Amino acid sequence: MEILYFLILILTVLILAYNRVPLLMSMVIMIGLTIGWTELRHLFYVPSWFRFANGIVAVTLIGFAITPLRRLLISDRLYNLFRKALPKVSDTEQEALNAGTVWWDGELFSGRPRWRKLLKVPPPSLTEKEQAFLDGPVEELCRMADDWEICDQYRRLPGRLWDFIREHRMLGMIIPEQYGGLEFSAQANSAVVMKLASRNLTTAITVMVPNSLGPGELLIHYGTEEQKEYYLPRLASGEEIPCFALTSPSAGSDAASMNDVGIVCMGEHNGKSVLGLRLTWNKRYITLAPVATLLGLAFKVKDPDRLLGNEVNLGITCALIPADTPGVVIGNRHMPVGAVFMNGPTSGQDVFIPMEWIIGGQDRIGQGWRMLMQSLAAGRSISLPALGTAGGKMCALLSGAYARIRKQFNIPIGKFEGIEEPLARIGGRTYRMDAARKLTLVALDQGERPGVLSAILKYQLTEGNRQCINDAMDIHGGKGIITGPRNYLARGYQAIPIAITVEGANILTRSLIIFGQGAIRAHPWLLKEMEAARDPRPEARKVFDKVLFAHIGNVISNMVRSWMLGVSVGFATRAPVNGPTARYFRQVTRMSAAFSFVSDLVLLSLGGRFKVKEKLSGRLADALIHLYMCCAVLKRYEDDGRPEADLPLLTWAVEDSLYLVQESLKGVLANFPVPGIGSVIKLIIFPLGAPYSQPSDRTGRHVARILLTENESRNRLVSGVYISDQDDASGRVHTAFHLALTSTNAENAIHNALNEPVTYENYEVLVQKAVESGVITEEQATTVRLAQEATRAVVQVDEFTREEIEGSTTAFNPENP
Ligand SMILES: Cc1cc2nc3c(=O)[nH]c(=O)nc-3n(C[C@H](O)[C@H](O)[C@H](O)COP(=O)(O)OP(=O)(O)OC[C@H]3O[C@@H](n4cnc5c(N)ncnc54)[C@H](O)[C@@H]3O)c2cc1C
Repeated sequence: MEILYFLILILTVLILAYNRVPLLMSMVIMIGLTIGWTELRHLFYVPSWFRFANGIVAVTLIGFAITPLRRLLISDRLYNLFRKALPKVSDTEQEALNAGTVWWDGELFSGRPRWRKLLKVPPPSLTEKEQAFLDGPVEELCRMADDWEICDQYRRLPGRLWDFIREHRMLGMIIPEQYGGLEFSAQANSAVVMKLASRNLTTAITVMVPNSLGPGELLIHYGTEEQKEYYLPRLASGEEIPCFALTSPSAGSDAASMNDVGIVCMGEHNGKSVLGLRLTWNKRYITLAPVATLLGLAFKVKDPDRLLGNEVNLGITCALIPADTPGVVIGNRHMPVGAVFMNGPTSGQDVFIPMEWIIGGQDRIGQGWRMLMQSLAAGRSISLPALGTAGGKMCALLSGAYARIRKQFNIPIGKFEGIEEPLARIGGRTYRMDAARKLTLVALDQGERPGVLSAILKYQLTEGNRQCINDAMDIHGGKGIITGPRNYLARGYQAIPIAITVEGANILTRSLIIFGQGAIRAHPWLLKEMEAARDPRPEARKVFDKVLFAHIGNVISNMVRSWMLGVSVGFATRAPVNGPTARYFRQVTRMSAAFSFVSDLVLLSLGGRFKVKEKLSGRLADALIHLYMCCAVLKRYEDDGRPEADLPLLTWAVEDSLYLVQESLKGVLANFPVPGIGSVIKLIIFPLGAPYSQPSDRTGRHVARILLTENESRNRLVSGVYISDQDDASGRVHTAFHLALTSTNAENAIHNALNEPVTYENYEVLVQKAVESGVITEEQATTVRLAQEATRAVVQVDEFTREEIEGSTTAFNPENP
C-alpha cells in the first residue's frame, strides 16, 4: 500500500514535468492535491508521510514559482556567474548567429517537436512556368552537354552552351521579373541545378554560381535603386558574367580574417575627383573569375585619414567592380579536380573605385559580413544540396541498372548480397537526401532563412553524395575506373571534394557550425539567456530569471520525457498519423527529447568551452542532422501520398538515421566532459539499453529490388534527373536496362532448354537454336539480340592509342616503352 502511494507521488511529479506544466500551475496543482489527500483521509487510508511529501513538493515549487523569491535565492546569483562564463563571441560570429531564421531545428532542440506544424507545411510544387522551363530549355541544355567533350576536348564550357544559357536567362533565375529575370522559386532553382548536375557538373556549376551567393543576390537585397536598375537586367540576360571573391590565400575557412583592404581616399573617376576607396586584394579559387565581367569583392575598409568619421577600421564591405577597370587582374585559371568550370585567382593593387560601387552605397560600408551571412542561408540550402542530390539519384539510377545488366557467375551482380548492401545504402540515402532537400526548399519558399538547417543540408547532402558515389564505384568495378566517353561515373567521383569544400568546408560545418552555432541559435532559451546576461541594465536580470527558469523547466522536462519515452519504448507519446510510420514519429519525439537533454548537460558542463570541443560538437551535430533527416523522410512519405511501395526506402532511411542519432549520443556520453555523468545520463535516455540497430538485411534487399527493376518507387526516387535517350554513356545504360528486363523470360527459357546461359558472346548461336526448336518466338529472339548487344555496349570500356594518351611528343618506342 505504501509503495502504491509512493508511486502515485512519483507519477504526479513525472506527469507534471513530462507535460511541461508551468511552475505556477504545478504549484497550484500540488497544493490542491495536498489539500485533497488530507480531506480524503476521512474516507480511506492515506498515509501521513504521503500528505507531507505532497506538501513538501508544493512548498518547493513555491520557491521556484514566485519570482521575487527565486530571484533572491537563485537567478540573481546565477546571473553574475553566467556573465563571467559567457563565451567570447566575435562580431563576425555574432553576425552569423543573428543571420537567418530558426525553423524546424527549433522544434528538435525543444525536445518536443510539434508534428502538426510539420505536417501542415505544404508539399513541394513547381509552377507551370517552372515545370515548362525544366522540360524545355533545361532538358535541351542537358542534351547539348556532352561530358567528355566538355571536360576532355574543350576543357571549358563550349561557346554554344554559354550562348544557350544566356539566351534562356539561366543566369537570372533569382532575379525578379521586373528586371528581366526568371524570378524562380527556391524549388525551381534547385530543380534546374539538380537536373543539369545529373548530366554535367561544369554546366551545373556555371549556371548555379550566379544564382547563388554573389552579385545578383546581394544587389537584390542590398543594392541601391541605381545599382539594381543598371546591373540586374544585365545579369539576367547574361550580358554581365558575375563572380564573387571572398577567399584569399591566408583566409579560407576563416574568411573574415582577410587582408584585402580598401583605403578611404580621394581619387579620380570619370575625370572628376571623388571620394572612394583604394583597393588592394589577392583572392583565389574564385568561380567564374577568369571570364567574369563583373567582380564582386569583399574587403576590409580602413579610413586612416578619418575622412568618414572617427573610426579607422570600418569593417568588411562588398563592392562591384567592372572587370575592365584598370588594375583588375583576372584571366588565369585553376584546374579543379573532375570539372572544368571557370575558376581562378584575381588580384589588384591600389585600384581606385568610387563609393557608388559599394553594394548598397557608402552607407553599407562595414555591413558586408552581415550581408553575406544573411544571404548565405538561402544559397546554401539550394545549390550544393541540389548537386549532392543529383549525384545520389544518378548513382541510384545507374548502379541499379548496371547491377542488373552486368552478370558474373551467370547471374546479375545485383542479386549478390554483397552488392545488395551498397545498392540499399544508395537507395536509402538518396531517398533521405531528396526528402531533406525538398522540405528545406518549401521552408525557403515560405520566407524562412534557416541558417542551421542550411548548414545541415550543405554538409549532409554533399557527404551523402560522396557515400553514394563511393558505393557506386564499387558496384561498377573496372567500368567506373576506366575513363573515356563511355564512363559516366568517374568525373562525379573525382569532383566530389569540390562541393565538400566550398561554402563552408564540411569538417568545419559539422564541428563548428551545425551544433556550435545551432545550439545557441536554435535552442529555445540559450540565446535569450546570453542576451540577457550580456545586458548590463538592471531590468535584464528579470528577463534572465524568466528565461533561466524556462530553461531549467525544459531540462527537467526533457530528462523526464527521455526516461518515460525510453521506458515505454516511445509509447508514452502519440504519433500524428496512423499506420506503419507512426512508430517512427514516436521514436523521433523520443530521441529529440534525449538530444535536447544531452545537449543541455554538455553545454552546462562545458560553458563557453563547448566551442572548442569540436568532437563533442560534431557528434551532437550528427544527432541533430539525423533527427532532421528522419523528419524530412516522414514528411516526404506523407507528401508523396503514402505510397506503400516506398516503405522499404523510408524504413531504411529512418532506421539508419535513428541508429546514427543513437550512436552519436552514445559517443557524446562515452566522452562526457565530467567523468561518471555520461553513464548516469545513459541510464536515463536508454533505460532499456540501446534500442536501434542498422536497417535489416531484409529491408536492404527490398530497397535493392526497387533499384534493380523498373517501378514507380524507382521513378519517384530519381525524379528530376536527366534521362538520356541518346547513344551516349548513360543513355546506353537506360536502354540496356530496359531490354535486359524485357528479355529475362526469353533468356531464362533458352538457358533452361539449352543448358547454357545467354551472353553477348554466344547469343547468336543460342538464339538461333532456341527459335528453331520453338523455345522462343522470333519476336522474343529480337529482344534477346537487342538486349545482348545493348549489354555489350554498356560493359565495353574505352581504350586509346598511346599517342592519344601520351601525346605525339612521346611517340611509342617498343625498345623504350
Ligand atoms: C573549386 C572551388 C571553388 C570556389 N569558389 C569560390 C568562390 O567563387 N568565391 C570564393 O570566395 N571562394 C570560393 N572558394 C573557396 C572556398 O569557399 C574555400 O576553399 C573554403 O572556404 C575553404 O577554405 P580553404 O580551401 O582555404 O581551406 P582551409 O580553410 O585551409 O581548411 C582546411 C581544412 O580545415 C578545416 N577547418 C578549418 N577551420 C576549422 C575549424 N575551426 N574547425 C574544424 N575544421 C576546420 C576545413 O574544414 C578544411 O577541412 C572555392 C573553392 C574551391 C575549391
